[in-house]
Order: sequence, then C-alpha cells, then structure tokens
Amino acid sequence: MIYAPFPGEFIASALRRGKEILGIRCRQSDYQITKVSPRSSKDRWQIVLPPVFQDDDIAKLALYENTLYPLFSVMGRTVYYGNYTPNRNWRICFHCVEEDSETYGSPFIHVAHLTRSVTLCYKHAVRLAEKCPSCGAYIHSHDLASIIDCSVYFPDVSNAAGSQHHDYAIFVNSLLDFRDSTYSQPWVNSTLSDKYIQVLHGGDHFTGYTSYRQEIGQFLGMHFNETMSDYLSLDFCLALAFLGFRDAESLMSILKRPSEGPREPVIRAHPR
Ligand SMILES: [Zn+2]
Ligand SMILES: [Zn+2]
Repeated sequence: MIYAPFPGEFIASALRRGKEILGIRCRQSDYQITKVSPRSSKDRWQIVLPPVFQDDDIAKLALYENTLYPLFSVMGRTVYYGNYTPNRNWRICFHCVEEDSETYGSPFIHVAHLTRSVTLCYKHAVRLAEKCPSCGAYIHSHDLASIIDCSVYFPDVSNAAGSQHHDYAIFVNSLLDFRDSTYSQPWVNSTLSDKYIQVLHGGDHFTGYTSYRQEIGQFLGMHFNETMSDYLSLDFCLALAFLGFRDAESLMSILKRPSEGPREPVIRAHPR
C-alpha cells in the first residue's frame, strides 16, 4: 500500500488516495487505530497504528501529524476518550480543493478541517462543506480523485476573514502543533473554566458557572446539557479554551507539563 501524506493531510485521506491509485477500495479498518488498555496499574496505554506503518517512529509521526491526536492530548484526554480518526464528518474547503490540486496534483482531507465545531477553513476563511454540492455525496464516502471533477460546479462562497469563527479555526489549527504532554483532564478543565470566568465574567464564579454552558452553546451553535458530559465534549473544551485564552501559544505554554507524564501512552507500529 502507498502511504505518502501531504502536509496536514488526514491519515485516512492519504491511505484512501494510495488505494484509489491502485483501484482498491479503502476500508475503515485500513486506517483504524487500535487502543490497548493497560494490563496493570503501572502499565501504560498503547496506541497501535494500522499495519501499513513499519516502525514506531513512523507510527508516532503519523499519529502527531495526520490525526486529531494532538487536540485530545493538549486537552488532557486519556486515550480511552480519544477518537483520533473519525469515520464521518469529513469536510472540504472549496479553495483548498483548488489549491491542493494545483500544488499537489490532488485534493485531500485536512486534519484541521475535521473538528466538528470548526466551521471555517483556517486558511481561506470560507465555510467547510460536509457534502459535495455537485453530486450530493458525503465527503467521507466521496472518491478523492473525483472531487476535482465535481469542483467545476462548486458555488462561490463568502469569505469570513476576521470573524470570531475564523479566529477559532486558526486557534484549533495551531493546537494541532502540540507535541508535549499535559496534566490530567480535570486539571485542564478547571484551568480552562477558571480563565474563562476570569476573562468573561470578571472572576464572578457564580454568574460564570451558571451561564457558560449556554454561552458556549450559542457560540458553537450546539447544545450542552447541565451534566458532566459536556466535560467529555472536545468541542466544548476547545471553545472554552478559545474564548478564555484566544492565543494558542499562551494556552499551550500553560498546559504543558515540564516533563513527560507517567501515564503518557506508548505509540507503536505493532502491538507488543
Ligand atoms: Zn481552505
Ligand atoms: Zn461530488
């Protein structure tokens, strides 16, 4: 199988392109990442990449560069909750399709366009599309090569540069550069909510805690229940981080742990 990702390309997109060249259909299992739970309290999680990856270094590079792993990692998520390679909700930016076809000879799926709450392209500030406007197919089931043919009929899209959602897309894209380890999820969550309440509610915890679910829901156009489950939503925490910090660099420097955590997962090419 051919695996030669373009910069920022989603792992599943790179594998699918490789298979399309050979005329073979790409299956979900081709890019599925296996998570092996620790056998004892001293053991660590193992993240095992699909068989196409020959050694641990290549596996690690692919996980960092071509999956959503850094976003889950910066938010302190344990491996258990990480969906690094979503099967659905793949999106395209019409401008990226055109640019990538010219630069690389093929359109591809960008990791930066995969997060559900990110609605605009960080680079072009235009709305991302989950369905092909020409043939109506969902992008996750669309042949990558034939997106070029469909692109002839793509409509003009308006530019939202400088909007809050564009800034959010840039913020999330910058977090994909995170390569360190953080503290636990409860520590990250309380750091994010403290900062949010300090910045948006002048440190008034009572008002802050009673209204932040609604405020973030409004910003993202999503609904969050009055339960702990919102803490499990990556989108919720990313928006909380964005509205409180605005700057991805300062957020990452605060969340970064000085040395690798004892429970840092082991990334492998083959299970051991
Ligand atoms: Zn774009
Ligand atoms: Zn199409």
